[in-house]
Amino acid sequence: MLVVSTIAEVRSRVAEARRAGQRIGFVPTMGYLHEGHLMLMRQARQECGFVLVSIFVNPTQFGPNEDFARYPRDLERDLSLCGSVPVDLVFAPSVEEIYPQPYLTRVSVSLLTTTLCGASRPGHFEGVATVVSKLLNIAQPDTAYFGQKDAQQVAVIRQMVTDLNLPVKISAVPTVREPDGLAMSSRNVYLTPEQRQAALVLSRSLHMAGGRVARGDRDLPAIRQAMQEMIRSEPLAELDYAEIVDPRTLQPLQTLPQGGQALAAVAVRFGRTRLIDNMTLQG
Ligand code: AMP
Repeated sequence: MLVVSTIAEVRSRVAEARRAGQRIGFVPTMGYLHEGHLMLMRQARQECGFVLVSIFVNPTQFGPNEDFARYPRDLERDLSLCGSVPVDLVFAPSVEEIYPQPYLTRVSVSLLTTTLCGASRPGHFEGVATVVSKLLNIAQPDTAYFGQKDAQQVAVIRQMVTDLNLPVKISAVPTVREPDGLAMSSRNVYLTPEQRQAALVLSRSLHMAGGRVARGDRDLPAIRQAMQEMIRSEPLAELDYAEIVDPRTLQPLQTLPQGGQALAAVAVRFGRTRLIDNMTLQG
C-alpha cells in the first residue's frame, strides 16, 4: 500500500493501474476510520483491481460554528486500517493541495440540498459536491463508493454525476451499525457515556417507523409525528429533524404507495454533537 499527498502522484499511480487494465475503485473519507468506512473499502476491493482511499477533512463542508477544528484525526491508525483491507493507494492531501489560493469555484446542486441536513447546515452540500467533484476529477475512478448512512449525500452526488456527465458509477453501501443499533460515525467519539446511551433513540425511532409501515400503517404524517415525539421524550436529545421523504426528491411524503419506497431520516443533537441516521421504508 502506497500513501501519497499530491494530486500528481495520484494521477500517475491511477494511470499506471489503468494501463494495466485494472478497474479503479475510489472511497472518499474524512478519516478517523471505522467499520462503516471499511465496508466501503471491502466492497471496492471485491469489485476493483485497484482501490484508492482518500483521507481529507474537507474544510468547505463545515459551517463556521461546526466542528472542523476538533474533528477527530488519527492518520497512523487510519493507514493501518486501510492496510488491513488492503487498499492499494491512500491519498492524504493537505488543505493547500486541494484548495490552492486563490480558490474561486464551487459546485452547487439545487433543490435536493434545501431539505433535511441542507436546511440546518447551509453550504454543507456545496462543500461536499465541490470536493467530491474535485476528487473524482483527480482520481477518475470507474466506481466511487458512498455510505447509505449519508442518504442525502448519495442523492446529491448521484444528481451531480448525472447533471455534469461525470463518467463514474456511484455505488451506495448499506449502513454499518454497532451491535446495539447505533450507526457507526466518526463523531460517536464525542459522546459522553450518557449521550451514547441516549443516542440509541435515532435507530429506535427509525425501527418504530419501519415497524408501523410493516404492519400496514400508511399514515406517514402520523408516523413522522410519533418519531418526533419519541426523540423529544429523550431528555439528552435535541431534535433537529425527523422526516419521511421521497428517496429521490427528498421532499416530504404523505403516503406510501403499494410497492413504493420512502426514506425515514433523523438528525439529533446531543450537546454539541449532531448525529444522523436513516432507514428505507418499503410499501
Ligand atoms: P466520512 O468520513 O464520515 O465523510 O464518511 C466517508 C464515507 O463513509 C461516506 O460515504 C459515508 O457515508 C460512509 N460512512 C460513514 N459511516 C458509515 C456507516 N456507518 N456505514 C456505512 N458507510 C458509512
